[in-house]
Amino acid sequence: MFKYKKITLIITLVLVFLGNSFIYASSINDEEVFIRNGSRNKKLIALTFDDGPHPKETNQVLDVLNKYNVKGTFFIAGKHANWYPEPLVRASKEGHEIGNHTFNHPDITHLTNTQLEEEILKCEEILVKLTGKKPQLFRPPYGSYKQEELASIAKKLNYKIVLWTSVDARDWQNPEAEIIANKIMNNAKNGDIILLHDYATNNTVDALDILIPKMIEQGFEFVTVSQIIDK
Ligand SMILES: [Zn+2]
Repeated sequence: MFKYKKITLIITLVLVFLGNSFIYASSINDEEVFIRNGSRNKKLIALTFDDGPHPKETNQVLDVLNKYNVKGTFFIAGKHANWYPEPLVRASKEGHEIGNHTFNHPDITHLTNTQLEEEILKCEEILVKLTGKKPQLFRPPYGSYKQEELASIAKKLNYKIVLWTSVDARDWQNPEAEIIANKIMNNAKNGDIILLHDYATNNTVDALDILIPKMIEQGFEFVTVSQIIDK
């Protein structure tokens, strides 16, 4: 009787150990799909712009990026690309990176896996149609997601999930341009992926015009998300 108990105990311990290893292995695996920053060893920064394209703001952002010969990454809401395709086509032609930000911009934690896949594929379809390229990057609206579900869908559809570094200038709340710029300049570190918006913001463009030349002077280089994770 005692022997059986001992064997049962050993088997239980082995199973618990194996179970934990699997959970550990799968979370490590998932973590590789989620990107929050690039290498900390180089003075690179990736500026990212969510929720466009917008006929006025996206073009203004592109103008200021071009003024300093800087490349950015645009996470596109598919429905906005349907309404305003031109600024998106322009961004892609001018060498900026285009990412998938769903079609309808829902909180994806409220969707079934099938609905989430549809949201991503519907956005992908219009991005491919307008730019001729399959996007490699996906950013969940509101930074809201269920890790395991999103990781498995991203792997299946061949996306990396791009979040952002802790610096959040909350430009969508329309603080003054100087406040947005200072928040980014005072906190930015090598390899940061900075979250900004090019839809329904007033001061983001002016903030860029302040922070880009100052940070270039400090030795930073602005690159796309794919470039910052590649270096
Ligand atoms: Zn968004």
